[in-house]
Amino acid sequence: MLLSIKTKLKLTSGQKTIMSKHAGISRFTYNWGLATWKSLYQDGYKPNKYLLKKFFNNEVKSELEWIKEKGICQKITQYAFDQLSAAFDRFFKGLGGYPKFKKKGQNDSFTIDAGGKPIPVGGVGVKLPTIGWVKTYEGLPHTTTTKLTISRIADDWYLAFAYEVETEFTPKIVDVVGVDLGVKELATLSTGVVFPNPRAYKKNIQKLKRLSKALARKSKGSNNRYKSRVKLAKHHARVSNIRKDALHKVTNYLCKNHAVIVIEDLNISGMMQNHKLAQSIADCGFYEFKRQLEYKCKKFGSKLVLADRWYPSSKTCSNCGSKKDSLLLSERVYSCEHCGHVMDRDLNAAINLSHCVAGVPPVVASGVSRRALA
Ligand SMILES: [Zn+2]
Repeated sequence: MLLSIKTKLKLTSGQKTIMSKHAGISRFTYNWGLATWKSLYQDGYKPNKYLLKKFFNNEVKSELEWIKEKGICQKITQYAFDQLSAAFDRFFKGLGGYPKFKKKGQNDSFTIDAGGKPIPVGGVGVKLPTIGWVKTYEGLPHTTTTKLTISRIADDWYLAFAYEVETEFTPKIVDVVGVDLGVKELATLSTGVVFPNPRAYKKNIQKLKRLSKALARKSKGSNNRYKSRVKLAKHHARVSNIRKDALHKVTNYLCKNHAVIVIEDLNISGMMQNHKLAQSIADCGFYEFKRQLEYKCKKFGSKLVLADRWYPSSKTCSNCGSKKDSLLLSERVYSCEHCGHVMDRDLNAAINLSHCVAGVPPVVASGVSRRALA
């Protein structure tokens, strides 16, 4: 199976400039491709990436000295066209909007390869094709990959690549587990195991609130506003990294020890709540949580089940199956009017999720199995 990894690069200022140049060429090519695609389409042609690549390489690139500069990997323009083509594919399938022009400093990225040869990675350094050695903060697995994507987030550069690993089946101590991802606690499992939010997370959320208020006070277009925005973006990345690391602990524990893991398809309970800062980070955390579970389930031989996204896991009593009409966010304890069952709200939700093994909740309000009705 293929695993992917994304890690922060430790670059010198000279290397950062080289990365910016590459990202600039990638952006230029993408935007040129998009503009050409649009005009070809308006003229009644059916554009595709091969046509664009050919025209660009033969007619356009030769005029652009700055793309051919020494030390610039020439593969980035090809990948920019692939990216544009993928964006159009998503648009045609109804999975995304019409491709937009890229702006400088927004989602800067580029992809390079070694002309089909495997690129060795491992340890705290990678030799990038054409660009040369770069350092990473964390140690990488010793493996090879075919291409590398480099992107910028809040003034920091990241390296991403995919690599092949074998499944390592671990003995499973629990058959089915439901998991509720929350704001108060990081994760509550139907088995009663609770993963609290890391202490650093709470502290940094406070600072994040202060920084976003500070940004709001700066006048638009000012240098101070720019500095404030970079500061906020950096801190935002820090907070989500803390959460990401904590999630890795949860997903490792889940995938190694449980045969089937049930989560909500979308963090509906989170989305229903008012969009406060902590909540929006929890929402982002949900996608990261799902992403980690997906690949770790493959890695450790367990199965991920997504419960029906409209299944009221929080409002349903895990003991008798009756459903409340409403449940306030402030109600931290579930107490059932029908059977008198009293339980922590998150644990109640997690147990309900563990009942949805086939992706369909087995019990409805009347206590009749939904599958029996079908
Ligand atoms: Zn009940």
